[in-house]
Amino acid sequence: MDIRTNSVHTGVYKDGSYNSVTTPIYSSSTFYFDELGKNKGYDYTRSGNPTRAALEENIAALEGGMGCSATATGMAAITAVLFFLKAGDHVVTGDDIYGGTYRLFNRVFPEMGITFSFINMRDIKAVKAAIKPKTKMIWIETPSNPLLNIIDLDAVIKVGKEKKLLTVVDNTFLSPYFQKPFEFGADIVVHSTTKYINGHSDVVGGAIVYGRKDLEERGKFLVNALGISESPFDAWLVLRGVKTLAYRMEAHQANALKIAQFLEKHKNVKKVYYPGLASHPQQALIKKQMKGFGGMLAFELDTKKVDLKTLFKKLKFFSLAESLGGVESLIESPWLMSHASMGEKGLKASGMTPETVRVSVGIEDPQDLIDDLKAALA
Ligand SMILES: *Cc1c(COP(=O)(O)O)cnc(C)c1O
Repeated sequence: MDIRTNSVHTGVYKDGSYNSVTTPIYSSSTFYFDELGKNKGYDYTRSGNPTRAALEENIAALEGGMGCSATATGMAAITAVLFFLKAGDHVVTGDDIYGGTYRLFNRVFPEMGITFSFINMRDIKAVKAAIKPKTKMIWIETPSNPLLNIIDLDAVIKVGKEKKLLTVVDNTFLSPYFQKPFEFGADIVVHSTTKYINGHSDVVGGAIVYGRKDLEERGKFLVNALGISESPFDAWLVLRGVKTLAYRMEAHQANALKIAQFLEKHKNVKKVYYPGLASHPQQALIKKQMKGFGGMLAFELDTKKVDLKTLFKKLKFFSLAESLGGVESLIESPWLMSHASMGEKGLKASGMTPETVRVSVGIEDPQDLIDDLKAALA
């Protein structure tokens, strides 16, 4: 089934009591048994809920996975996946992953005996060299945040398979509309559904999508045991948002490309990072693994000409805010905001500068957005 049909039809039409066309919100915390040992498949909402199950079915279908757990946040999903490991295990990951993931990997799990190597994953030799006898997992995020570096899914996952490691891909940035990590053999895909999957900046949520049945079983056990599943109301909002995923992604991308091209020609902009530009150095890889370029871009502002504060202040349609993937355009400084928790050393290692600006391009009229940027950059 095409993703546009899947996103609208999978996991809906679930209530026959009144023939509702959309999935109702089952806000009940508990479900009664018809008799001892006999219920209708649900007993307690932390463990399972029909509204959440509908969303899980939908996201699993979009990614092409075996099953899915919808979690309270994206970080909850990532935390649960790390609980597949135990003290002594080692993880190989990138040096420019999402700031919150970096914080969890750098400051929380090491205290529980799990160690991490943060490396440049574009270099497949570095990936191979980082694998130790204790390595159990490779954590991939592509394109990276905020510099849109691309990691070779096929090559890195192959290395993981050879060494029998669990390969996990954070697919938040492109969504299943533009990238399908299971097609390259990934074991698990995670999402912050807060971003493109929901797409309307009105909920936080996450998803773990499983490529194998045994992983689904363990993952669902962990999500219930840790108590991090998504609330029925939030799940309902995400299910509502995901139905327009394909159309939103097309609009985000069309706008992002126009803005990237505009910025690239602007005299007060030193460099633009966007996979849809010919200047992006990884063209072959982009063609090989991505069905599109997405709606995120970053650029280096010439702060001798325009300072960050003035730029952000002058903009009318770009809110100064963290997060991404909603219908409205957002702008921010990764150095001072989204990625600040990485510390100066981590920020520098990943290639960010105090002049880096990240943009989540919304679905407004592209000319309005460009006019806004033109005025603010002048
Ligand atoms: C936002 C984000 C997360 C974390 O998700 P939350 O919903 O904020 O907890 C993880 N990975 C990526 C790539 C993100 O953009």
